[in-house]
Amino acid sequence: MAKGRCMKCKKEVEIKNGKEVEMKNGMKAMKGECPDCATKVFRILGKAK
Ligand SMILES: [Zn+2]
Repeated sequence: MAKGRCMKCKKEVEIKNGKEVEMKNGMKAMKGECPDCATKVFRILGKAK
């Protein structure tokens, strides 16, 4: 499971329901929710290929 930073909890959290998405600029990211407060958590993974 990937980790991301929750803006609300101000800490690193395990991304819940994480889904890998590709952004318009070709970067990959993990999108999901904070397990504690259900705020959207987003993590940049890096360039796709
Ligand atoms: Zn949170």
